Amino acid sequence: MELVFATNNAHKLQEITAMTGKFFTIKSLQDIHCFDEIPETGETLEENALQKARYVYEKFGCNCFADDTGLEIEALDGAPGVYTARFAGEGCSFDDNIEKTLSLMQGKANRTAEFRTVIACIIDGEEYLFEGGVYGTIATHKMGDEGFGYDPIFVPVGYEESFAQMPMSEKNKISHRARAFKEFMMFLHEITD
Ligand code: IMP
Repeated sequence: MELVFATNNAHKLQEITAMTGKFFTIKSLQDIHCFDEIPETGETLEENALQKARYVYEKFGCNCFADDTGLEIEALDGAPGVYTARFAGEGCSFDDNIEKTLSLMQGKANRTAEFRTVIACIIDGEEYLFEGGVYGTIATHKMGDEGFGYDPIFVPVGYEESFAQMPMSEKNKISHRARAFKEFMMFLHEITD
């Protein structure tokens, strides 16, 4: 089966290709000559993932999937949530987002947060949603320099280190995205068995 991954992130494409093995061919947006800025204007992760998958399915007519991730911090009423990538404003850097988060979290006793990934998949017009999450706490300062995004300030439950202090292989065993992709893979294997 061929599936288009509606992302421009080469790293994610590589990650999923490594998981799918030889049973599925994962195509990129480039492979189908889609160079559009795919809109992402939903108010939830589910809406955004579906919006991206529907765009590709409707315009290019191919079976496809898209993902969306958010960091949901309890003490900030679930923020940054759907605004995780641009929390500190359009075009902001990972560091800008971290600084904003640390400053909003100053003095907060409840530092619980969840990273959540939603995957929307469309196969022959049928829509499916998958989810993966990991709970943790927001550190009081940056720790480590591996990974990306909020990794230096996210300490997963059961660990003392932040995601940015772990080898990528360790993070990939427990991360929100890995868990969501695992659910998705199980589904793909079921429907192709
Ligand atoms: P996306 O929906 O996968 O593009 O993720 C949105 C934003 O969430 C990214 O720009 C990052 O800031 C953050 N993010 C997603 N996954 C991770 C992760 O594994 N570690 C840290 N930050 C992440």
